[in-house]
Amino acid sequence: MLRDLAYLFYPIYCAACDSPLYSNERLLCTSCRHELPLGNFHYVNAKKIEKVFYGRVKIENATALFVFHKDGLVQNLIHNLKYRGREEIAKELGLWLGSELCQLSEYQNIDVVVPVPLHTKRLRERGFNQVEKFGIEIAKKLDAEYINKVLKKSSYTSKQSKRDHMNRWINTAETFKVINESLLENKHILLVDDIVTTGATIEACVQELVKIKGIRISVATMAITE
Ligand SMILES: [Zn+2]
Repeated sequence: MLRDLAYLFYPIYCAACDSPLYSNERLLCTSCRHELPLGNFHYVNAKKIEKVFYGRVKIENATALFVFHKDGLVQNLIHNLKYRGREEIAKELGLWLGSELCQLSEYQNIDVVVPVPLHTKRLRERGFNQVEKFGIEIAKKLDAEYINKVLKKSSYTSKQSKRDHMNRWINTAETFKVINESLLENKHILLVDDIVTTGATIEACVQELVKIKGIRISVATMAITE
């Protein structure tokens, strides 16, 4: 009863549709849990997402939890994570995807989970990297190590929410640097990010990572645009 009373004073809202949650719901309302558009790429559509990177960079396996539609539930979910500081969303999505990937042989041999980094200036503004908790949960499920000190973003791009279509292409100039590369030698790594749109960010990271001796790279993201 105390718990219900607390909800009355501190209503907790669904991370995807912003409606108040019932006390038996966690983070997402029951309706959103069923309606969020799952990609299921790691089960049936692996080729579809791996095709994004064909001829650009070599990737072992790639998947995304959701399909991102403009003005859809996933867009709001990611917005709540990035701009309203609801970092628990990243944890929940990591648990969700991690629980599925740990049952698949292609992902069971992952040694290290590596997040796409934010530029230090952006990290200071936001206070957290939105993929950190996502990566940590996936690493736990895969019994892999989580290492966030191997990639460094060296170019700074303007705020995504303010960017127009043309500027999105300027964004492809973002560059990453590998540090402590010995940590990843001869490892199968899982690179994690929030959304794949053009694939340019992942491509820029992979171009640097493939220089490491014996590395193999797979990719998992929260969402991919249709
Ligand atoms: Zn909802």
